[in-house]
Amino acid sequence: MTIAKTTNYRFSTAYRKSPIDVRFHQSYTKIPNGCWNWLGATSFKGRKWSYGIINKDKKPYLAHRVSWELHNGPIPKEMDLCHKCDNTLCVNPDHLFLGTQADNNRDRDLKGRKAMGEGHGKYIHGKFVNQARWRTRPDGSRYYFSGN
Ligand SMILES: [Zn+2]
Repeated sequence: MTIAKTTNYRFSTAYRKSPIDVRFHQSYTKIPNGCWNWLGATSFKGRKWSYGIINKDKKPYLAHRVSWELHNGPIPKEMDLCHKCDNTLCVNPDHLFLGTQADNNRDRDLKGRKAMGEGHGKYIHGKFVNQARWRTRPDGSRYYFSGN
Protein backbone atom coordinates (compact mmCIF):
# COMPACT_ATOMS: atom_id res chain seq x y z
CA MET A 1 0.00 0.00 0.00
CA THR A 2 1.36 3.38 -0.97
CA ILE A 3 0.34 6.43 0.93
CA ALA A 4 0.67 9.84 -0.66
CA LYS A 5 2.71 12.03 1.59
CA THR A 6 1.79 15.70 1.67
CA THR A 7 2.73 18.40 4.12
CA ASN A 8 -0.73 18.12 5.63
CA TYR A 9 -0.66 14.37 5.69
CA ARG A 10 -0.66 14.07 9.47
CA PHE A 11 -3.83 16.17 9.61
CA SER A 12 -5.67 14.25 6.89
CA THR A 13 -8.51 11.76 7.27
CA ALA A 14 -6.37 9.10 5.58
CA TYR A 15 -3.82 9.52 8.35
CA ARG A 16 -6.35 9.33 11.16
CA LYS A 17 -7.84 6.16 9.69
CA SER A 18 -4.50 4.42 9.23
CA PRO A 19 -3.44 1.63 11.57
CA ILE A 20 -1.29 2.75 14.49
CA ASP A 21 1.94 1.27 13.10
CA VAL A 22 1.49 3.18 9.83
CA ARG A 23 0.76 6.41 11.68
CA PHE A 24 3.67 5.81 14.01
CA HIS A 25 6.17 5.48 11.18
CA GLN A 26 4.87 8.67 9.54
CA SER A 27 5.27 10.73 12.69
CA TYR A 28 8.96 11.04 13.39
CA THR A 29 12.10 12.25 11.68
CA LYS A 30 15.52 10.64 12.04
CA ILE A 31 18.18 13.06 13.19
CA PRO A 32 21.97 12.67 12.80
CA ASN A 33 22.61 11.22 16.27
CA GLY A 34 20.24 8.32 15.52
CA CYS A 35 17.24 9.62 17.47
CA TRP A 36 13.80 9.34 15.93
CA ASN A 37 12.42 12.73 16.80
CA TRP A 38 8.65 12.74 17.30
CA LEU A 39 6.81 15.23 15.06
CA GLY A 40 3.28 14.65 16.30
CA ALA A 41 1.55 15.93 19.39
CA THR A 42 3.52 16.15 22.61
CA SER A 43 2.66 16.36 26.26
CA PHE A 44 4.48 18.39 28.84
CA LYS A 45 5.41 16.64 32.03
CA GLY A 46 6.55 19.08 34.62
CA ARG A 47 8.13 22.12 33.04
CA LYS A 48 10.61 20.81 30.53
CA TRP A 49 10.15 17.22 29.52
CA SER A 50 7.82 16.59 26.66
CA TYR A 51 6.88 13.17 25.35
CA GLY A 52 5.36 12.27 21.99
CA ILE A 53 1.69 11.38 22.00
CA ILE A 54 -0.16 9.11 19.56
CA ASN A 55 -3.86 8.31 19.59
CA LYS A 56 -5.16 4.75 19.61
CA ASP A 57 -8.89 4.06 19.86
CA LYS A 58 -9.36 7.79 20.48
CA LYS A 59 -7.15 7.68 23.57
CA PRO A 60 -3.72 9.29 23.84
CA TYR A 61 -0.73 7.02 24.37
CA LEU A 62 2.91 7.91 24.91
CA ALA A 63 4.63 7.53 21.54
CA HIS A 64 7.88 6.03 22.88
CA ARG A 65 5.88 3.34 24.71
CA VAL A 66 3.90 2.60 21.54
CA SER A 67 7.21 2.37 19.67
CA TRP A 68 8.56 -0.17 22.16
CA GLU A 69 5.39 -2.24 21.99
CA LEU A 70 5.36 -2.21 18.17
CA HIS A 71 8.96 -3.45 18.11
CA ASN A 72 9.36 -5.48 21.28
CA GLY A 73 5.93 -6.37 22.60
CA PRO A 74 4.07 -5.31 25.75
CA ILE A 75 5.78 -3.40 28.55
CA PRO A 76 5.44 -5.16 31.92
CA LYS A 77 3.22 -3.12 34.25
CA GLU A 78 5.86 -2.67 36.94
CA MET A 79 8.51 -1.50 34.49
CA ASP A 80 9.26 1.99 33.27
CA LEU A 81 10.44 2.76 29.76
CA CYS A 82 13.54 4.97 29.83
CA HIS A 83 15.59 6.80 27.23
CA LYS A 84 19.30 5.94 26.84
CA CYS A 85 19.71 9.08 24.75
CA ASP A 86 18.00 11.37 27.29
CA ASN A 87 15.86 12.82 24.51
CA THR A 88 12.27 12.43 25.67
CA LEU A 89 10.94 13.10 22.17
CA CYS A 90 12.92 10.18 20.76
CA VAL A 91 10.93 7.09 19.73
CA ASN A 92 13.79 4.95 18.40
CA PRO A 93 13.33 1.53 20.05
CA ASP A 94 17.14 1.11 20.07
CA HIS A 95 17.37 4.15 22.34
CA LEU A 96 14.87 2.83 24.86
CA PHE A 97 15.28 0.39 27.72
CA LEU A 98 13.09 -1.09 30.40
CA GLY A 99 13.93 -0.12 33.94
CA THR A 100 12.21 0.20 37.27
CA GLN A 101 10.92 3.55 38.45
CA ALA A 102 13.90 3.60 40.84
CA ASP A 103 16.33 3.09 37.91
CA ASN A 104 14.70 5.95 36.10
CA ASN A 105 15.02 8.29 39.08
CA ARG A 106 18.64 7.30 39.66
CA ASP A 107 19.38 7.78 35.97
CA ARG A 108 17.78 11.22 36.10
CA ASP A 109 19.87 12.21 39.12
CA LEU A 110 23.08 10.94 37.52
CA LYS A 111 22.41 12.96 34.42
CA GLY A 112 21.74 16.06 36.51
CA ARG A 113 18.23 16.36 35.20
CA LYS A 114 16.76 16.80 38.66
CA ALA A 115 15.18 20.16 39.32
CA MET A 116 17.19 22.38 41.59
CA GLY A 117 15.72 25.22 43.59
CA GLU A 118 12.10 24.02 43.73
CA GLY A 119 9.68 26.86 43.16
CA HIS A 120 11.92 28.82 40.82
CA GLY A 121 11.85 26.17 38.11
CA LYS A 122 15.60 26.43 37.82
CA TYR A 123 17.32 23.47 36.20
CA ILE A 124 21.05 23.09 36.19
CA HIS A 125 23.56 21.08 34.13
CA GLY A 126 23.34 19.90 30.53
CA LYS A 127 19.67 19.35 29.86
CA PHE A 128 18.32 22.88 30.04
CA VAL A 129 21.02 24.05 27.65
CA ASN A 130 20.51 21.08 25.33
CA GLN A 131 16.80 21.77 25.12
CA ALA A 132 17.63 25.10 23.50
CA ARG A 133 18.86 23.12 20.50
CA TRP A 134 15.32 21.92 19.78
CA ARG A 135 13.59 24.49 17.61
CA THR A 136 9.97 24.80 16.57
CA ARG A 137 8.99 25.33 12.95
CA PRO A 138 6.12 27.71 12.04
CA ASP A 139 3.84 24.69 11.56
CA GLY A 140 4.49 23.58 15.14
CA SER A 141 6.74 20.61 14.37
CA ARG A 142 10.11 20.45 16.09
CA TYR A 143 13.57 19.81 14.77
CA TYR A 144 17.06 19.46 16.12
CA PHE A 145 19.16 22.54 15.53
CA SER A 146 22.73 21.37 14.92
CA GLY A 147 24.37 24.75 14.22
CA ASN A 148 25.85 27.04 16.84
ZN1 LIG B 1 17.25 8.76 20.91
